[in-house]
Amino acid sequence: MKSGSDAFLKRLKRQPPRDLDEVVHRLHEQVFAKTDCLSCANCCKTTGPLWTERDKERVAKRLRLKTADFESSYLRLDEDGDWVLKQLPCPFLEADNACSIYEDRPKACREYPHTDRVKQAQILDLTAKNALVCPAVSEIVARMELKYAEKAAPGGAVPQGAPRRRR
Ligand code: SF4
Ligand code: SF4
Repeated sequence: MKSGSDAFLKRLKRQPPRDLDEVVHRLHEQVFAKTDCLSCANCCKTTGPLWTERDKERVAKRLRLKTADFESSYLRLDEDGDWVLKQLPCPFLEADNACSIYEDRPKACREYPHTDRVKQAQILDLTAKNALVCPAVSEIVARMELKYAEKAAPGGAVPQGAPRRRR
């Protein structure tokens, strides 16, 4: 993500607009309607999910493994004490970018990149981080910047020099 967008998100965090959820959720719908995750899979290649106990049990069952065996084969505890993948890209990512455990994938995978979650103001740091990984989040942030520049301008017009959508 460009540094201007980073500064923009920091500004938003200091003074979150009241319509932030509404704006981000609308942009999420628009951007993901034209995003083909199967031609990207960057999240699965570069950042893995955190695994909850229920995730581990569900996926172990799918793989017909004992949870302890699944854990020792695929997972490790990170420095924060969270269960994460031992290696990346994710071992469940297939050559065509499909997820081989899709129906049982971890909750964090289902919810990524969290731009449809409520209380967006509370996760702006995470959004800034995800924009470095996910082209859709980067696009959402660029459009947010444009949107709030429009709102700030007298009469709703975009001022000269206002941030433009990244391309
Ligand atoms: S990084 Fe974003 S656009 Fe790419 S596959 Fe993941 S969610 Fe989809
Ligand atoms: S479990 Fe599936 S969705 Fe989650 S990171 Fe691995 S391949 Fe991607």
